[in-house]
Amino acid sequence: MYRKYFAWSFDDGLEQDKRIIKTLKEYEMGATFHLNSGMFGDKTYVGRIGNPGMREISVEAFESGNCRLLPYAPHFRIPEDEVRDVYAGFEIAGHTCHHVNLMTCSQEDRLREIADDIISLSDLFDQKVTGFAYPYGMGAKQSRKALKAAGVQYARLAVTDSAFLFPEDPLAMPLTCRFTSEKVFPLIEQFKSKEPEDHDLFFLMFAHGYECDFGTAEANWEKFENICAAVAGQKDIVCCSIGQALRHHAKD
Ligand SMILES: [Zn+2]
Repeated sequence: MYRKYFAWSFDDGLEQDKRIIKTLKEYEMGATFHLNSGMFGDKTYVGRIGNPGMREISVEAFESGNCRLLPYAPHFRIPEDEVRDVYAGFEIAGHTCHHVNLMTCSQEDRLREIADDIISLSDLFDQKVTGFAYPYGMGAKQSRKALKAAGVQYARLAVTDSAFLFPEDPLAMPLTCRFTSEKVFPLIEQFKSKEPEDHDLFFLMFAHGYECDFGTAEANWEKFENICAAVAGQKDIVCCSIGQALRHHAKD
């Protein structure tokens, strides 16, 4: 029998994840959190330019008040001494140690940034980390060797593909929809009404916690709750982490 899987994917390990996790637990939903093991506790602000554009600025620049033309939200990473407790029970995945651009960095940096991140996160969280998300959503071609060397089994891009398919190439995994997209609810309705007739179906929803703080029409906390409410509790949809979805799919 074929099934439908829904997974949340959150990047960067942000303070907003605490509120997100509270809601995920209420709705009994799984999720994958992609963390940068060399940046715990770092603080910046992000301004929303468009959809999904954003600009990152320092806390000093934000506090100086010179750049308030955009809606800004805190991009404060959870400190290292808290992350184990915050993310207990959820899948942890890599995102490089320092959020590097894998398209443009050296191969030496690529190998180190990926491998060290996977090792640090596996040690810190006491779980075998096998997932990854490309910082800025790019660099699949350049990073394949480094990902394989680090034992990574799947890696998420930032390109969207709303066909509800499991990825043909798990190291170049598209997402179904961004949280900030206006297509979220129509896509969820399509997914709910689709029957997994001759293959499994997969919905991968990608978000950053800070997006909930923007408070704009397409990026707010109520929308996050409404997505959870729309998907959770459907008896034909398995809500789990990306890793769980891929493992179940491999067995189906
Ligand atoms: Zn990121």
